[in-house]
Amino acid sequence: MKLEGIHHVTAITGDAQRNLDFYARVLGLRLVKKTVNQDDPTVYHLFYGDEGGSPGADLTFFEYPGAVPGRPGTGMVHRVVWRVGSDEALAFWADRLAKEDVWAERADGALRLRDPEGLEHELVVTDRDDPPLIADHPEVPAEMALQGFDGVRAYSADPAASRHLLEEGLDFTPAGDGAWEARGEQRGGVIAYDASPAEPGRPGGGTVHHVAWASTMDDHPAWRKRALQGGAHPTEVIDRFWFLSIYFVEPSGVLFEIASMGPGFDVDEDPQHLGERLVLPPRFEPMRERIEATLTPLGNPRE
Ligand code: ZN
Repeated sequence: MKLEGIHHVTAITGDAQRNLDFYARVLGLRLVKKTVNQDDPTVYHLFYGDEGGSPGADLTFFEYPGAVPGRPGTGMVHRVVWRVGSDEALAFWADRLAKEDVWAERADGALRLRDPEGLEHELVVTDRDDPPLIADHPEVPAEMALQGFDGVRAYSADPAASRHLLEEGLDFTPAGDGAWEARGEQRGGVIAYDASPAEPGRPGGGTVHHVAWASTMDDHPAWRKRALQGGAHPTEVIDRFWFLSIYFVEPSGVLFEIASMGPGFDVDEDPQHLGERLVLPPRFEPMRERIEATLTPLGNPRE
């Protein structure tokens, strides 16, 4: 039983409209679900991804309107790493981001950038043959597009403390230099740990809330027991409507989720029209009028 890399990464934004502009227009991802936070339905939960809304390319944001930018510290993911196809793609993005006045910096075989609230991303040229997960965008040729997650980097005061849960519980493989990989039959994804900064972290806009690892539908019930055996304290299985989830904090302090790879975002929307209207899980439908009144309307980025 193996995890199929990263399912999604969830972060916080203080400004849904600016967030939508950055991820759907500038970075060329597809808004695949416009919904609300199921633990606080007065705020948006926006899901960006590839054309099909696949696990492996799904970056999501809880909106807390006006949230001040936070700062990643120990136990927090501080960088999201995406695959691109070539050095030409890095050059394409360096040029596109410069024109958009987005902070970006070339590194060896990589390009680092920050979203408007300071969330750091890194594009790396991949040598993986995992299927590329890309979105269609009129200004981003397919061969330049982001291809899904390669991994995340987190700050840890003691990465060795995470080894037992990662290797024995969750069947990650050491990937060198404080990194571990979860590789299944379809995809792989990495978590790498960096030394913590001196200043403590502060959750807020532009910080990552959690990272979710992908499980097949069949394996999902068994992962809770595996997490327990690895020493974690997982929640019960929570039905997120588009997938099933368990959550636990791993020993370095990063909030992990294990999410099932189905049923998927097209269970309640036509795949041609994902993300165009506000979608509520059935239990929130009776509250639709009240919920819509509290949310700032967001346009369809593809219009
Ligand atoms: Zn999640």
